[in-house]
Amino acid sequence: MTQIRKIYQKIDPFSLRLRLTVGIAIVSALGLGNLALWTSWKMRQVLINNHKRNIEAIAQRLPRDVQIYSEMMPSTTALQKAIDNLTATNTFLWVKSPENQILAKSNNWNQLSNPTATELMSLGEMTIRPRIDKVGQRYFVLCGGAIPVRGKVLGKLFVIQDVTREQMIFLVMVESLGVGSVLTIIVMSVAIAFYIKRSLQPLMQLSQMTSVISIADLGQAKLYLDKAPSEVKELAQTFNMMLARLSQSWEQERQFVSNVSHELRTPLTIVHGYLQSVLRRQTNLTDMQREALETAASEAERTIRLLQDLLDLARADSGYLQLCLEECALNDLIIEVAGMAEKYSDRQITIEYTINPIVVKADYNRLKQVLLNLVDNAVKYSDSDTPITLKLHQQEQAVIIQVCDQGYGIPLQHQLRIFERFYRVDEARTSSIGGCGLGLSIVKTLVEGMGGSVTVRSRLEEGSIFTITLPISECC
Ligand code: ADP
Repeated sequence: MTQIRKIYQKIDPFSLRLRLTVGIAIVSALGLGNLALWTSWKMRQVLINNHKRNIEAIAQRLPRDVQIYSEMMPSTTALQKAIDNLTATNTFLWVKSPENQILAKSNNWNQLSNPTATELMSLGEMTIRPRIDKVGQRYFVLCGGAIPVRGKVLGKLFVIQDVTREQMIFLVMVESLGVGSVLTIIVMSVAIAFYIKRSLQPLMQLSQMTSVISIADLGQAKLYLDKAPSEVKELAQTFNMMLARLSQSWEQERQFVSNVSHELRTPLTIVHGYLQSVLRRQTNLTDMQREALETAASEAERTIRLLQDLLDLARADSGYLQLCLEECALNDLIIEVAGMAEKYSDRQITIEYTINPIVVKADYNRLKQVLLNLVDNAVKYSDSDTPITLKLHQQEQAVIIQVCDQGYGIPLQHQLRIFERFYRVDEARTSSIGGCGLGLSIVKTLVEGMGGSVTVRSRLEEGSIFTITLPISECC
């Protein structure tokens, strides 16, 4: 039962494979069905129609014979003589008077069992056109007519022929034909399903190959199918051309972002420098002037950070992000990060780590940037009276750094997407907090650049845990 349910769940009612299979199976079933019907009809004609023609001829000839004999002898004797002349094996004749009395009958009734003979004799009327009837356990072709002698109806003629053998052969053949047709349809449907599955295989391959192409290998990606039909090869070629165009425009976009970020960052850094120096040196500024200059300086600083993030991501995309991997003492790093974060956020950051120093190969400054980003998020997305903890420990061949908060949490459906560029959960709520959705994508890019990975575990209104896993290299 579960097996059937599993197969049923696997079937996609909208798939091309199912539609083609069902369509072809229906057409084949109709074709075979019609062929079987035509063959049955033809067989019936060959087996039975001969008999029909035969008794029809007897029924037409007997009244003429009676007419001729009755000119030489009494009509009842003429009737019996005509019947005896036309009687043959399996052919039975009898004549009834208008009052339903048997006037004459063929002399071969002993070939039939008594009940069958009685049932036949009791038949009332008979049509001129022959028909097949089952009487007792036997099949008969029957027909009849009137016998006129000298302008008077002498009686009703009944002519029958036993066709049990032929009818049995016909029924057996129809049955075999039916069973054969059903079996052929089943076997054909299965064969068609397999054939269609095989034929659609290149399309599935194409889809699998396309689904694994990432932004990183857009430039080198080429779809190639060796033994595919020409149509699918053509489709693969069209895909390849589209990939080339995509890669080109992606490259242009990356170049543009990189150039713009670079060009804007330098003048903005100078503006920020001047603003800082004015704020430091000028003592005669009014409160309003100072406030305006401070706002300008902080906005310039925020924009420089954003441009730096964009530049980092553009470099990482082109493979030019330089990471200086060297042995780093992580215990020192998390102490430094906690100290910096406490200074700018006025929040207390708790540190948990083992006394044994943990050393990994990483870019110290970039890892600091990663942790500052995560702690900054923990500060932004939690209430000021909740704790933030930085944890460090070693686990077999990996080092685990966790940034934990007891803040607002992230809904499950957003947890995978927060590492995408410019993705922010609940824009309406986060827009007042500040940020542009680049922080976590920088974190992911940098951590993966150092051979590690970053994951999140979070529950709404309970808090989030961001976990960085870095491999411990041999030398460490
Ligand atoms: P942003 O500049 O908006 O902080 P990030 O890339 O750092 O951009 O984060 C993306 C989104 O993930 C944020 O907008 C926020 O909704 C969510 N997020 C990140 N860190 C946390 C956290 N510690 N608690 C709750 N939500 C978070």
